[in-house]
Amino acid sequence: MQKIEKVAAMQEYAAALRRDGRRIALVPTLGALHAGHASLIRLARGKAAAIVSTFVNPLQFGPSEDFARYPRTAAGDALLCEKEGAEVLFAPAADEMFPRGFSTHVQEDAISKPLCGVSRPTLFRGVLTCWLKLCNIVRPDLLVMGEKDLQQVAVVRKVAADLLLPVEIITAPTVRDPDGLAVSARNTYLSPTQREEALAVHAALCRAKEMVEGGVKSADRLVAEVTHLIAAKRRLRVIYISIVDRQTMEQLREIIPGGCLMAISFWVDEVRLTDNMPL
Ligand code: AMP
Repeated sequence: MQKIEKVAAMQEYAAALRRDGRRIALVPTLGALHAGHASLIRLARGKAAAIVSTFVNPLQFGPSEDFARYPRTAAGDALLCEKEGAEVLFAPAADEMFPRGFSTHVQEDAISKPLCGVSRPTLFRGVLTCWLKLCNIVRPDLLVMGEKDLQQVAVVRKVAADLLLPVEIITAPTVRDPDGLAVSARNTYLSPTQREEALAVHAALCRAKEMVEGGVKSADRLVAEVTHLIAAKRRLRVIYISIVDRQTMEQLREIIPGGCLMAISFWVDEVRLTDNMPL
């Protein structure tokens, strides 16, 4: 496996892969790689040469968010990439990706507005700007993303369609710890008690799924039940719970079988987590 830190070197390596007739799959991450990322790398590697970016993108953190504190685990990231068969680990420095004077941003104005877009208004602009630059560096055939962040997937798909980007987007299901908590770099911030309370969210999402399987269609009823279950936990504060169309992220009043999900974001004390459940 190659570890590359410079944009020019990454461009050259990707060009050489293309010359050799290899397909390229890009796996963009923020590093601090875990089992969820490993599943994306395996999916990528099964289809093409996997290039994993571990660039901690400063543009997607708001001013009061955890950019400085975000876990950075370069040695562990390299081991995981190597073990999962990645071709390249791309880890540029911030001024390599966004040098002084960088002033261009990519914005999507519909799907990025609800849910996470309400409380984190610059999140998707930051994600999209970084993602498009990574795509221009690597020119991947495939982009591999996790269903844990389904709004991010929907926004990226929309931009790829609107701007005719020649990349196929494929997704992998959310990897959970055995207790049900969606694996996330931010879980490392949780104390055992906080983690215990966070589990109530997965249990509540499972309850919503059961209700749908039992015939409940009303989004209001499902949201009310999940809110009630979460309210019993002292450390949890809901930022949003919504049942939305999988592609447009528009709020729904009734379940569309196979086409919608319950999306949730919540605080466990000062730690913000996001999860969802396809319904
Ligand atoms: P992040 O490093 O959190 O920005 O995530 C990078 C990519 O990994 C995104 O496409 C995420 O959706 C995906 N991802 C993060 N956590 C998980 C998980 N638990 N299961 C599957 N994919 C994940």
